[in-house]
Amino acid sequence: MSKKIKQEIVLKGIAAAPGIAMGHAFLLDQQDFIVSERFILPEEVPIEIARFDEAVVHTKAEILDVKEKIRVQVGGVDAQIFDAHLLVLEDCMLIDEVKKKIVANECGAEYAFSQVLNRYIAIFDKIQDEYIKERSSDVSDVGRRVLKHLMGESRLHDFEALLGEIIIVAHDISPSDAVTMYSKKILSFLTDVGGRTAHTAIIAKSLGVPAVLGLKDATLRISNQDYVIVDGRKGVVIIDPSEDTKRLYAKEKARIEQYEGAILNTRDVPGETLDGRRVGLMANFEIHGEIPGVKKYGAEGIGLYRTEFFYMNRLDLPTEEEQFQDYRKIAEEMNPYPVVIRTLDLGGDKFLSSIQLPKEMTPFLGSRAIRLCLEEPEIFRTQLRAILRASAHGNVAMMYPMIAGPGELRAANSIFKSVKDRLREQGVPFNEKMQVGVMIEVPSAAMTADLLAKEADFFSIGTNDLIQYTLAVDRTNEKMAQFYEPGHPAVLRLIRRTINAAHDAGIKVSVCGEMASDPTLAMVLMGLGVDTFSMSPSSIPQIKRAVRSLKFSDIQEFAKEALRLSTGQEVEEFMIGAIKKCVADFYNYEGQSR
Ligand code: PEP
Ligand code: MG
Repeated sequence: MSKKIKQEIVLKGIAAAPGIAMGHAFLLDQQDFIVSERFILPEEVPIEIARFDEAVVHTKAEILDVKEKIRVQVGGVDAQIFDAHLLVLEDCMLIDEVKKKIVANECGAEYAFSQVLNRYIAIFDKIQDEYIKERSSDVSDVGRRVLKHLMGESRLHDFEALLGEIIIVAHDISPSDAVTMYSKKILSFLTDVGGRTAHTAIIAKSLGVPAVLGLKDATLRISNQDYVIVDGRKGVVIIDPSEDTKRLYAKEKARIEQYEGAILNTRDVPGETLDGRRVGLMANFEIHGEIPGVKKYGAEGIGLYRTEFFYMNRLDLPTEEEQFQDYRKIAEEMNPYPVVIRTLDLGGDKFLSSIQLPKEMTPFLGSRAIRLCLEEPEIFRTQLRAILRASAHGNVAMMYPMIAGPGELRAANSIFKSVKDRLREQGVPFNEKMQVGVMIEVPSAAMTADLLAKEADFFSIGTNDLIQYTLAVDRTNEKMAQFYEPGHPAVLRLIRRTINAAHDAGIKVSVCGEMASDPTLAMVLMGLGVDTFSMSPSSIPQIKRAVRSLKFSDIQEFAKEALRLSTGQEVEEFMIGAIKKCVADFYNYEGQSR
């Protein structure tokens, strides 16, 4: 109703990726399957069956075509998502059931198909098993495509058919959708659910587009084609903005773009403070096709390669050869800069297609990451072999996620050693001196950092999880966002402890969680002694600007003071004030999220 009089509606969510976007909304909704019943004459039955057969054939051809495009644009591994979709179309039971329904009910093919489809989806949705649930989304995806052929393009959305620049509005965004979006002109993401470190936020940042998550009911409040302004710095979304508001934001957007253009001039200068302290600035890497962004923003290597995207949304596990080719390609492209490959971090909110695991009550505390790899040593070995083989082709390092203490590190290293022995026996080349690091993202790891440091080549602090586990706050739950405090004294103390233990043992420490891409918090981390930051590539210029405009001696003093404070809010307020005293216009960077 309010739409008719075009009154601005302002929604507030979680500022997940900075920047301003202005454009038309595109809703990824569930309404696509509403198909009205259409009765046919008995003599039309064969025609409807033929129409259905034709739609299936066209859909198969279309999926193969999309798969090929993705393979060329993004890479073979990502393209395999579509194999699962093809399998749905080869399911004889589903196909037969549709035909029987057309005959029995004398109804249109689209109606028979949507009825059968909805029944399948309803059955899948009732089953508490991530694998089956994922099959449900494959069936939905394929269903949309078949219906599009039966009912005409205009009724349904299809990423391949998306033209122009759009703002995606969804309840949540699946990794499989995210992969497809890499080749599209997405202006922004808006979702009902998700927190600042949810995978949608991470993907938006790696695409360099603004995102506002945790909007709760964005999919109800925003309609397809609504004109929307997204302010990713403040977590604000304006639906049907007035002309004045549009003008205001257009100006703001132009200012940000101008600033970003200028700040990119620092691409080739180091992250060095006014008094000569260097900090490494590397990129996080999630999905294939990101290398140009990594280079554009001047990353000095890849500090975190989240390999699990390789394993998600496919029916089989990636082979050693596939992984080797992928890791090698990235290592060669980044050479001489390092590429830190993180071993598989599945579980938690990152579900699996190819390994069926029992449903857990609290998946974040269950069989996740290194635990899963130790339970499934063959999967682990395959990945280790691929990483080791790639190490002969560039500057490759490796790290284990979610190590809880020295026992787990030893168990992982013992498998690693046996894999190395075997490669040696087989005469397969690899770098004998490849560095092996430990991610510090569980409080028990931070507390035992002195012990872990004796058996690791480096540490990388995963603050997204370290905060979650230290403060008992689900990082993906938007309702808990107020409790997710990166500057909480417990978090800072664990980080300080980790850094000191590492330096005492003569090893380096990186931070690869989202905290590294926030200029205020990154300065606390730097003051505590972090050697390298790894973040979404587009965040590098603003962190470099922060580093280059301050003195390390000041940054150290600020961090010392921050550690004396009692709450995350106090820490942030203190840091902002202290930094502003040194550099009055520090926060005048238009693009950043505070
Ligand atoms: C982290 O936990 O901070 C991290 C970098 O790993 P991920 O976000 O992939 O869990
Ligand atoms: Mg983590």
